[in-house]
Amino acid sequence: MSLSGSFIRTVIVPLWAMKEGTPYLRHLKGLDGSKKRPLAQVQADQLQRLKKLLGHAYDNTPFYRRQFDSTAVKPSDISTLDDLRKLPLLTKDDIRANGDDMIARNIPRDQLVAKKTSGSTGVSVELFVDEASAQWKRAVTVSYDRWAGWDIGERVGAIWGNPECYQNWRAHLRNSLLTRHIPLDTLKMGPDTMRAYYDTLLKKKPVILFGHAHSLYLFARFLEEKELSGIHPRGIISTCMVLHDFERQTIERVFGCRVTNRYGCEEVSLIACECPEGNFHLNCDTLIVEFIRDGKPVAPGEPGAIVVTDLTNYGMPFIRYKVGDVGIPSAKTSCPCGCTYPIMDSLEGRVADYVVTPDGNYISGISLTENFAMHLPGVKQMQIVQEELDHLTFRIVKGESFSEQTVADIKRLAYERFGARVRFDIEYVDSIQSESSGKYRFCISKLQNPFS
Ligand SMILES: [Zn+2]
Repeated sequence: MSLSGSFIRTVIVPLWAMKEGTPYLRHLKGLDGSKKRPLAQVQADQLQRLKKLLGHAYDNTPFYRRQFDSTAVKPSDISTLDDLRKLPLLTKDDIRANGDDMIARNIPRDQLVAKKTSGSTGVSVELFVDEASAQWKRAVTVSYDRWAGWDIGERVGAIWGNPECYQNWRAHLRNSLLTRHIPLDTLKMGPDTMRAYYDTLLKKKPVILFGHAHSLYLFARFLEEKELSGIHPRGIISTCMVLHDFERQTIERVFGCRVTNRYGCEEVSLIACECPEGNFHLNCDTLIVEFIRDGKPVAPGEPGAIVVTDLTNYGMPFIRYKVGDVGIPSAKTSCPCGCTYPIMDSLEGRVADYVVTPDGNYISGISLTENFAMHLPGVKQMQIVQEELDHLTFRIVKGESFSEQTVADIKRLAYERFGARVRFDIEYVDSIQSESSGKYRFCISKLQNPFS
């Protein structure tokens, strides 16, 4: 059975939402207009919702009551968005230690959806999202996915790590009528798997491809090497991790369409998304996003730890939550797309991906990949691991042109980037596995930095 996207969008999806009693389509209707309001109006709305959330958290969660009382700040002391900084940051350790006390006592447990983060920075975190918040998140994600040229009811080729969600019959029916994902499992992305992706996509012709940046890149490179053509989606959504410029160029060249970079996390869902003009707008529909270094907001153009407050999740409030990534807020104050939400210049990757040099410099994983690994012919894949301040391990998958010259190049670059005091070892490996979440890490540092 093959149904058209517009039939699904205009008939099946509204009927399904009516049957489920879910309001996300109603939310969705207002969201395009919301994004074009004057910023002052957007912020006034955020402030009002923030005050309501803080009052609720204080009254109904033991954790936030203790937090407020220990800092001697009352919810009523918060009268501007800047006042939010009077409150402490929330870390993953806080959630692990106080998770149950963060759950609101006035919301029945059966209205909470349990979630678990992938644990890619070490340990996973268990959390809950209330049903109303889940519906907002669903609507918000659709509203940004439309920037990539996709709409509800259209087929999605999902290069993703978790195909179980399509397995029972109910999930299968839901997927074939509603979500319309064509699952392409990234667990083992070898040549045979990618050839199978190609055959599936050629047959099913999804409107959009969706996946982790690095998986999309590996697949694009495979198609180019094998000279396999004919996959031309309307757009591509790259998500969950840093998208390097070289990855974007390859993906756009091979598939002949624009890549929309989307950033979010399991805890609060979508945090930022690229608009059709290529600007990374922060999600002001459901969040307040801050960029913090040494406890203070950073200036535009400076890197800061990304801190979010979720204005919708009353079941388990996330107030000033440190996501674990670093981003750079932009000095740009407007965008030709008409969306007034603030812009982020770039996502610099995880806090734990920063290499610290003995001279006190911090080098982000993204810049190391682009200014180091990319300059080494003969290196197929590379991962930099820092255990101590003056010692690095380069894990390398050799490419065909690997030679003595490659080793000499590594020495020279290591000296230039990290200074004379850094020693290093090279470990040759057959492959560098992505993590169970499907994310791939170019750089892992075990040291503290100003964002941690
Ligand atoms: Zn824009």
